[in-house]
Amino acid sequence: MESSRSNNSSNSGHQGNNSATNDEEADELCPGFKDVDSFVKYGLGSVLSATKASAGLPQTGDEYDFYRSFPGFQEFCETQGDKILHCMSQIMQHHGCRSHIRDRNKLTGLEEQFDLVVDSNDVILEKVGILLDEADGVNRSQQPVMPAGFQPPKIVVSSWNRKGSDSGRGSETFRLLHAKNIARPQLKFKEKVDNSNTPFIPKIFIKPNAIKSLPSYFTNKQIRKERPEDLDVPAALADFIHQQRTQEHVEDMFAHPYQYELDHLTVPEQILSKSELQMYKPIAETKCSFIDTLEDLVALNEKLCRSSEFAVDLEHHSYRSFLGITCLMQISTREEDFIIDTLELRSEMYILNEAFTDPAVVKVFHGADSDIEWLQRDLGLYVVNLFDTHQASRALNLARHSLDHLLKFFCNVDSDKRYQLADWRIRPLPDEMFQYARADTHYLLYIYDSLRVQLLDFNHGQPGLLQSVWNKSKDISLKKYVKPIFTEESYLDLQRKQKKSFNTQQLTAFRLLFAWRDKLARQEDESTGYILPNHMMIKISEELPKEPQGIIACCNPVPPLVRQQVNELHLLVQQARDMPLLKAEIVAQKKKGLTPIKKPEVSLFGPHDTSRVSESDFPIFSPDELPVKQGMLFSDDEQGMEVDVQKTSGLMASAKITVFEEVETKNDQESLSVAQVKASRIIESFHNPFRMYLPSSDVHVNKNAKFDPSTKIYEISKRWKLQSMEQQQKELEAKKKAKQEAKEHAKKVAEERNKAKQSYQESLQNVATVRQQAAESAKGGGKKRERVASEVGESTPKPSKKLMKSAEKAQKNDPAPQDDFKPFDYNQSDLKVFAGAKSKDNTQFDPNRQAHDPKRKKNPKGQKSNFSAANRSMSYLAGKSERGFRHNWPKR
Ligand code: AMP
Ligand code: MN
Ligand code: ZN
Repeated sequence: MESSRSNNSSNSGHQGNNSATNDEEADELCPGFKDVDSFVKYGLGSVLSATKASAGLPQTGDEYDFYRSFPGFQEFCETQGDKILHCMSQIMQHHGCRSHIRDRNKLTGLEEQFDLVVDSNDVILEKVGILLDEADGVNRSQQPVMPAGFQPPKIVVSSWNRKGSDSGRGSETFRLLHAKNIARPQLKFKEKVDNSNTPFIPKIFIKPNAIKSLPSYFTNKQIRKERPEDLDVPAALADFIHQQRTQEHVEDMFAHPYQYELDHLTVPEQILSKSELQMYKPIAETKCSFIDTLEDLVALNEKLCRSSEFAVDLEHHSYRSFLGITCLMQISTREEDFIIDTLELRSEMYILNEAFTDPAVVKVFHGADSDIEWLQRDLGLYVVNLFDTHQASRALNLARHSLDHLLKFFCNVDSDKRYQLADWRIRPLPDEMFQYARADTHYLLYIYDSLRVQLLDFNHGQPGLLQSVWNKSKDISLKKYVKPIFTEESYLDLQRKQKKSFNTQQLTAFRLLFAWRDKLARQEDESTGYILPNHMMIKISEELPKEPQGIIACCNPVPPLVRQQVNELHLLVQQARDMPLLKAEIVAQKKKGLTPIKKPEVSLFGPHDTSRVSESDFPIFSPDELPVKQGMLFSDDEQGMEVDVQKTSGLMASAKITVFEEVETKNDQESLSVAQVKASRIIESFHNPFRMYLPSSDVHVNKNAKFDPSTKIYEISKRWKLQSMEQQQKELEAKKKAKQEAKEHAKKVAEERNKAKQSYQESLQNVATVRQQAAESAKGGGKKRERVASEVGESTPKPSKKLMKSAEKAQKNDPAPQDDFKPFDYNQSDLKVFAGAKSKDNTQFDPNRQAHDPKRKKNPKGQKSNFSAANRSMSYLAGKSERGFRHNWPKR
């Protein structure tokens, strides 16, 4: 397996590069080594001895200096050092990295040298990561493989797919062909593909061989017919409506339709009994029918129902479709082979359920994991009584478990897997592909016989091992297809997998691009890899190009939809560039010789006016990071942030933080004592999480006032903004008189507190109304619509971020140095202020959070049922989302 995997990855790599230099390398991949394994073994041995040798060198310091006093040693060190540097620089050049490591004059020191090595390692590891992903099928951006000369236009000849002479098949050349020549089969589908961001619902509507009948949800065509995407509303809202409508059927919808039958299935005698090997018929003497009419399909079903076992395989296409398409089904009985056009008969294939779920008929698959999912997803087919030869091969501990290997081992047939990744949508099916597909099942029943004999022999005639293979197969047939679901966190899974360390801006770009890509892929019914391959998405996020042209430059070849939507992408990248960097990130960037990206100056408001910035634009911090990173959010030279709301207004929720404005007013109207500042700060920190959900009209300061030059607020905002260092200096001096002033202002403090208390209680009342409102509008889809619609492009606020912001804001306002800050004594504060709270978890109030937290207590007043339902619509099965994307290709 290891070696085949490595081969795969090097292949994909060449494919990705498509460069002429790969021509020679392909032939001398491992000169002097018979396979990758032996090369790796040798390589590891060399590395190990080199490490040992370097550990044996004289230690730095006295020991080394002493040795160096011998000219011989010195000379030796220098020549060896040069040799190593030369070697390193060659490796780096090979990977296209900066490599002036050897040129000592150019180097300012060891540190820079070290940086060069680290950078190069990053580049190399990144390449390895991408290649492994491609080999794993995570990033299936490969072009389809076509037989030579099949379709002349748009051909890229590349070396990676040229068979080496050792393969024994001569040097046939494969060609890569852009799939755009092929008509999209989706257009012909009777039932539209459901790419909506809602969980998969089984397609089944009649259930042959049922012991337990199908729930009413599936038999009621009326419910099923009302599909959300038929409604003329935004996709996210349609998802939500769909969710609401199907709520009462949730349990049925997620159950495996044949769970009961499979749970009550007993091993058929025919499997366990000592079997006679039944030799396969020679290909030449076997009839093979291509089935693309309903009539033929019905006839086939009859045949299959009469047989006691048949073999099945599927061919699949995933590049030009969001979910993937089952293109072909191969079936072999002992007598005949059948190739079914599942593109043509997609809506009729369900009739085969009669044979497929018949417990008396064994269905033999090789590596059925994906097939079981594809059958459900596209054809509404289920399998009862499955035997997976891949599982049998594993149980027998055979050397390899791929179908090629079993074919060679049991049938002495050399198979040719080169069409495995062919574009199976092509019609009429080229003969080479037809023959290839047929061979995938033709021998499988014989292999099934052979494996059963071996499983019995292996266990001295006892059926235990056979039984366990059969059980494993049953588990596979119990698998349920899970649709890839987009959540706000989806991008993190991919980011973690890439092992990239992104700064705040880069991560934001990555998140925005990821959401853009997912949305477009669903809409256009294309794979995410077709819209924008992972490695390009990473490159754009890393480079944050200033110009649209820079985005194009990150992509080679440029994906059609990137070219088409480059302006949208440009806006997303700009939005990411507008994110504030952490101080540490700026330092790191300076070190790299890059100038940190500065925000545009804000013309009206102070650094803490976030009223026009979406919550989601703030970096995500885990709560435990908070105390450490406080105050590092903004660089010294940064002045607030500004996001062009106009550009993204369609995506953003209207909730704004306006509470800061008050602080500005207060600060300005009277210079508060340190104690006052701290007290109000604490109170503020309790305010924010609620207040942000209030519509601006409910808040004391009218938002419009800020824009009206005749108002006091305008004046104050402006003055605040103009506050200079001098002003801050003054505040510092004022601080010295703090004690004095504290007395003087004692009265004012009390007033202040009362005011805070009052506004706090008001806000609490408002929270309840907001909740009611939201619950109300959730029913009508009114306000909810706004939020849901924003989901795809925007992540929603998190409590940690809110706290972060208020804490950070408070710190900036506080003229007192950090170290004389004493924790606020809550025992002495007027906690009755908070007694008005209607629910205990109100500081956490975040509609989006609820669905993610199963332990979350219900809100009081019984209104939340609507709410949580609404939220579930988008954060549905967050944990499962990954499953939908993950493909564990069984060994074939
Ligand atoms: P098979 O069972 O080998 O005929 O494969 C069935 C389908 O799985 C093929 O049509 C391909 O679409 C897909 N497939 C098989 N192997 C791979 C792989 N290594 N990477 C991506 N897709 C694969
Ligand atoms: Mn298969
Ligand atoms: Zn196949």
